[in-house]
Amino acid sequence: MIRAIVGANWGDEGKGKLTDVLAEGSDIVVRFQGGANAGHTIINQYGKFALHLLPSGVFRTRVMNVIGPGVALDIEELIRELASLKDRDVPDPQLVVSDRAQVLMDFHVLLDTYEEERLADRKFGSTKSGIAPFYSDKFAKVGIQVCQLFEKDMLHARLTGSLVKKNVLMKHLYHKPELNADELTEKYYALGQQLKPMVCNTTRLLHDALRDGKRILLEGQLGALRDPDHGIYPYTTSSSPIAGAGTVGAGVPAHAIAEVIAVTKAYSSSVGTGFLISKLEGDEAEELRKRGGDAGEYGAKTGRPRDVGWFDAVATRYGCMVQGATQCAMTNLDVLSYLDEIPVCTAYKIDGQEVTDFPVTPLLAHATPVYTVLKGWKTDIRGITKYEDLPENCRAYVDFAEKAIQTPVTIVSNGPRREEVIYRTPGAVNGTSR
Ligand code: GDP
Repeated sequence: MIRAIVGANWGDEGKGKLTDVLAEGSDIVVRFQGGANAGHTIINQYGKFALHLLPSGVFRTRVMNVIGPGVALDIEELIRELASLKDRDVPDPQLVVSDRAQVLMDFHVLLDTYEEERLADRKFGSTKSGIAPFYSDKFAKVGIQVCQLFEKDMLHARLTGSLVKKNVLMKHLYHKPELNADELTEKYYALGQQLKPMVCNTTRLLHDALRDGKRILLEGQLGALRDPDHGIYPYTTSSSPIAGAGTVGAGVPAHAIAEVIAVTKAYSSSVGTGFLISKLEGDEAEELRKRGGDAGEYGAKTGRPRDVGWFDAVATRYGCMVQGATQCAMTNLDVLSYLDEIPVCTAYKIDGQEVTDFPVTPLLAHATPVYTVLKGWKTDIRGITKYEDLPENCRAYVDFAEKAIQTPVTIVSNGPRREEVIYRTPGAVNGTSR
């Protein structure tokens, strides 16, 4: 049985925390897309971690963690993250890497960085982790698969071919030093040898696990609104963070995904360039930003201040729809406890018309929010473990959001720590009860 944990919004919804929590009832956690370009914040008995590439099941020794074929694999980052767990006394996780995953190389990061510099104020908000050049290479069929790292001659030939066009860009567009296939071959051959003990046919492994009745979690990165097809293109990422794409990126049958848990914050946050219709400005924004997440709303990867705003039911309903969410987890509910009144964006006004279907990007540029204002609850809700013990206005807020997004909210999270989670329908989603 497969359950996917994915973002309903722009990313940073708290998927890492949720995956860490739900990994307890799972046998395998799989990353299926993206690379080290976002951070999943996890706070547990070992401390606070920002995982970029490792699946969020690495804190549980009985869980097998899988980096699937769809991931942009930055090998050095992977090695660094594993070392940083060891340094902090986290027991060695079980981890395997797909032999078909492709390798994100130094030059992808360079190309990403130089392109953002060239675009200057027309940039798309890249984290400069090499993701767009990586996926461009993959689909142009000049990428390097992990299995190709082990064949030195093939690796050299493929790099030589791929560098021809890149060096034209390096020299004539970016005016930077050219790339050298010999050096890169030596470097990545050596990294391949380091990686080799972790490499296997993960697709076979997952199909065998399914046959044996194992429970698998697919862990999405970023959120629905960053999807290249369904999101706020071009302010999107370059791989699909949609649960359905997990079947391809992980290598599992579509029919095996039984549950899709879309994660949303109880308010909105978005890092990088893009449109956030319910965005706050000034003191109101600063207050929410300061109180949000575990240490304020600053990007886990870049440290950039995130845009923050009220809960956007238009975007979240759409996000849940394209994710095919069977349920929703609402995180950061505790953050709103300071407010007397809490606006919820229930529609957009575009050129005088009220719109409730999330529009295409050019129309977002002229959208303004339509709010329904709900009463706050004005008491700290951290430490509460039963849904019925939440203040009435807080439950009313969740009920309102649930109706507005047309997806059952089965989990609420009332603090950043692993244990700060409330199941609204006990047993419905907690893997341990299955
Ligand atoms: P991810 O990429 O979806 O895993 O999300 P991030 O880790 O980038 O951002 C989520 C932020 O919210 C992190 O700072 C988490 O520690 C924090 N967080 C998650 N759930 C809660 C919650 O219920 N309450 C509070 N206050 N913070 C939370």
